[in-house]
Amino acid sequence: MHDAISKLAEVFVQFPGIGKRQAKRFVYFLLAQDASFREDLAKLIRELQNDIASCVQCHRFFVGRKTQSDVCDICSDPARDKTALMIVEKDVDLENIESSGAYNGRYFVLGGTVPVLDEAPEHRVRAKELQERIESDTPKEIILATSAHPEGENTAEYVRTLLAPFQEKHSFSLSLLGRGLSTGTELEYSDADTIKNAFENRSTT
Ligand SMILES: [Zn+2]
Repeated sequence: MHDAISKLAEVFVQFPGIGKRQAKRFVYFLLAQDASFREDLAKLIRELQNDIASCVQCHRFFVGRKTQSDVCDICSDPARDKTALMIVEKDVDLENIESSGAYNGRYFVLGGTVPVLDEAPEHRVRAKELQERIESDTPKEIILATSAHPEGENTAEYVRTLLAPFQEKHSFSLSLLGRGLSTGTELEYSDADTIKNAFENRSTT
């Protein structure tokens, strides 16, 4: 079956946390809407392609093409603390930390996590880009802000091995976001107070 319904359902199945049945429900939901709803959605998806770029420094997605800049507003903000670099798994984590107002340094987005016992971790996260960033930025403090579950811990462990060769050379401190976040909690779902606590209780590793 390769009709438009099945094809679109196959696309939705690739979304995080979406199963086959839910994917089909999305397609039928779209079919039940006005034509203008589907057109607006298609237009928004095209806009993602045309207007959003990945920042060359922190790799977060931002409205780039319109501003004709390849560096995002956080990386180019002179008021941000350039001595601190927080490493997060994904864009939504960065957004959540930003809205908590707890942190005024800069970021690096790994773009993924490393599953336990994974054999090619360098393909799961932006390993080379992170090392390049550390080399050019020489921050004084690096904060690991991965999630408090086994995959998050494993990601932090892998990032530590990536940073190890630079730690002696650039002598930065490496800290881990405090685990005020209870086990299993993802940063994505943490509220502002929890994030503030986790930041204030970060511990040097
Ligand atoms: Zn940036």
